[in-house]
Amino acid sequence: MRTVLLEGRGKVFIRDVSTPSPEPGDLLVEMRACGLCGSDLEKIQGVYTAAPPILGHEAVGVIAEVGQGAEGFEVGDRVFPHHHVPCYECVYCRRGSQTMCPEYRRWHLDPGGFSECFRVPRWNVSHGGVLILPETMSFQEGSFIEPLACCIRALDRLGVPEGSDVLIVGAGPMGLLLLQLLGHWGAGQVMVSEVSPYRLEAATRLGAQAAVNPLEVDVTQEVRRLTDRRGADLAIVASGSPKALSQAIHSVRRGGKVGLVGIPDEGSSLSGVSDLVTREISLISSNAATEMETRRALELISEGVVDVQSMVTHRVHLKEFPKAIELARKAESIKVVVVP
Ligand SMILES: [Zn+2]
Ligand SMILES: [Zn+2]
Repeated sequence: MRTVLLEGRGKVFIRDVSTPSPEPGDLLVEMRACGLCGSDLEKIQGVYTAAPPILGHEAVGVIAEVGQGAEGFEVGDRVFPHHHVPCYECVYCRRGSQTMCPEYRRWHLDPGGFSECFRVPRWNVSHGGVLILPETMSFQEGSFIEPLACCIRALDRLGVPEGSDVLIVGAGPMGLLLLQLLGHWGAGQVMVSEVSPYRLEAATRLGAQAAVNPLEVDVTQEVRRLTDRRGADLAIVASGSPKALSQAIHSVRRGGKVGLVGIPDEGSSLSGVSDLVTREISLISSNAATEMETRRALELISEGVVDVQSMVTHRVHLKEFPKAIELARKAESIKVVVVP
C-alpha cells in the first residue's frame, strides 16, 4: 500500500510498504480523508522537532479489520481515530494537563494518516480515542475533528468571558476555526489580522467584524480604534510567525490575555517581558487536544455550528502528495485535504 514517509529534513517520499496487520485490540482503517496541518508542514521543514516525525493526524476512514478483542467496532464503521490519547490517570492527566501525559505522544497512527491504510493502536482504541462518525457527516468534514478539538481546548484554557473583544493573528485553518468558535462562544468583536488577502476574505465571510492586513494597516492602532482605545481583551496567535506574537502582545488591553496556538519556529525568543508584568498580560499556550474536545468537535461540526466545508480549498490524491505541500504553502489556499 501507498504511504507518505518523512525521511529527514524536507525529505518526503511516497513509499510502497506492506499493510500493517492489526495486533489484538488494534484497528486497521482505510483512509478516506486526511487534512494537511501546519504542524505537518513544520515537521517537513524541520523547524518543529518536538513531536515524532509521523505525518498525518487529521485522518478519518472506514474500519477494514478489527483486531481480536477490540470491543464496540465492526468492519465498515466510519471512524475518526485520534492519533494521540492520554492515560487519564496520571498526575498530569488528573491535574488538567492531559496532552502532556507521558503516554500521550507514545501512540500514533501507524505508519501515519497519509496512507491508504493505517493501524490504530490498542491503547487509542481502549482509551476512547476512536469516534464513530454520524451518517450525515462526510469524511471531509470528519477530517476537521482533530484541528477543531485543538481550538476548543485552546479557548477553554484561555477562558473567553461573554462579550470579550478578540484579535486572531493568522487566518489559516486554525484561525478560521477559532473565529467561528468565538462567535458561538459569545465573544464580542472578533478581529482578524492576516497577510493573505484571500484568507482575509474568508475571515470576513466566516464572521470577522474586522479583517486587517498588517502589510497595509497598523494592526495595534486599528484594534485600539475599534475598542475605545483599550485594546483587545484577548489576542490569539494562530500563526508560527515571530512577528505575530509581538503584534498580539501589543494589541491586548492592560490585564489582557495572549493565547499561543501556532507553534513558533524553534529557537524563537520573546522580548519586552517587563511589559508583560507592568501591563499584567498573561501568556497562555495550548497544545493538541483530548477526547473531551474531539467529542465536542464532532458535535459542533454535525450540528453545523462550524462551517468546515467552505474552508477546503483543495483536495489532493495521496499519490500526488508533494502537490498538497505546495498548495498548502500558497497564500490562496486554506485547507488542503488529502484523499486516497
Ligand atoms: Zn493538526
Ligand atoms: Zn496521563
